[in-house]
Amino acid sequence: MERVSPAALYCLLKLNQAGYRAYLVGGCVRDLLRGVSPHDYDLCTNAPPQEICSVFSNEKTVLTGLRHGTVTVFHDGEPFEITTFRTEGGYSDGRHPDKVSFTQSLTEDLSRRDFTMNAIAWHPSDGLIDPFYGEEAICRKRISCVGDPLLRFEEDALRMLRAIRFECCLGFSIDPSTASAIQDKAGRIKEISRERIREELSKILLSERAFEGASRLLFFLGKEIFEVATPPLPSNAILNHLSCCEPLRYAAFLLESDQPENLLRSLRCSSALVRSVLTILRAVHTDYPTDKKGARMLRRDAGADTLSAAELIDILRQDHGMGARVVSSIERGEPVSLAELAVSGADLIQAGIPAGRHIGTILTSLLELVIEAPERNEKNFLLRKARKINPFA
Ligand code: ATP
Ligand code: MG
Repeated sequence: MERVSPAALYCLLKLNQAGYRAYLVGGCVRDLLRGVSPHDYDLCTNAPPQEICSVFSNEKTVLTGLRHGTVTVFHDGEPFEITTFRTEGGYSDGRHPDKVSFTQSLTEDLSRRDFTMNAIAWHPSDGLIDPFYGEEAICRKRISCVGDPLLRFEEDALRMLRAIRFECCLGFSIDPSTASAIQDKAGRIKEISRERIREELSKILLSERAFEGASRLLFFLGKEIFEVATPPLPSNAILNHLSCCEPLRYAAFLLESDQPENLLRSLRCSSALVRSVLTILRAVHTDYPTDKKGARMLRRDAGADTLSAAELIDILRQDHGMGARVVSSIERGEPVSLAELAVSGADLIQAGIPAGRHIGTILTSLLELVIEAPERNEKNFLLRKARKINPFA
């Protein structure tokens, strides 16, 4: 635990000095035990939310939910989520606890947490508080629910997706009784919002074991999440070896889907993400020539998504040619869009071509010429060509 950030220790000690108990808890303790630096720190304490705010009156604090008892404290610019020890009542909708009550018992707080590896608390003078043997689970790389998996998934179906996400993000494996409960309770995933499903799917697809994660997801929950349109999974060689770029990984995941757009929209993906994924997929399904011109055509069609598209094309062709040709085309500054042409619509009008819709058609034909041979991007040459294309000439 020697990697604990000094800012996290500061928050613990500050609560202790005010007379409260406080611990690091959850993902940060799990990651410290795995020998990995936590990406953020969660603390739990017996201090009620309003008290947490007054203990940290000199720092910026955000009361995230008085009812849920979470305060985010910013120290040295880093956020720390500090949550009052609590228990959760029933979950009649499989998502939101019916009632949350504060407790003085750390063990009670740990027992509401999802997996044993996430139910460990730590304090510099008490060491680990680990009533559910989470440390052992971490050593064995096991994901097991705290308590009865069937009940825990019934309470909150998101935990099933979290289990699959942790499996591929951490390289752990789901304990058999937890896995069989996922199979039993798969139908419950319908209670979870599409946004939260997408957040977990994104983490799975961006992990080093995206293929393994996506196949587990499809195996356990595919029918429930994707209904009739379950996409066939591309090979691990494709999914795991792409850069960690969200549109690129989604495009690979949906490579063989016959309705990628519906699928992305049903997961409430942003329109920017949908646009990029569809652009990449369209490029992948276009047979670009394997020469410099092909690279310019790809740049013209894929715009900001060109490098992603080239990466996927190369992986599918088992070649590095497209990526390399695209990079040199960019380095040479070859024009591939109307905006980069040496003439504008205004130039054409000034040269005597009547204004109107055909100006756009002419510019597009000029771009074609320039994509054939970039050295043609020269004002006088293009104006001469434009006069020949001009339907009114
Ligand atoms: P990471 O942040 O690395 O994805 P994490 O374990 O920190 O993993 P968070 O979503 O940040 O995950 O949650 C913090 C902690 O809150 C968890 O470690 C777990 O103890 C508890 N927790 C989060 N979500 C749930 C849930 N759905 N059910 C029960 N406990 C949960
Ligand atoms: Mg976390």
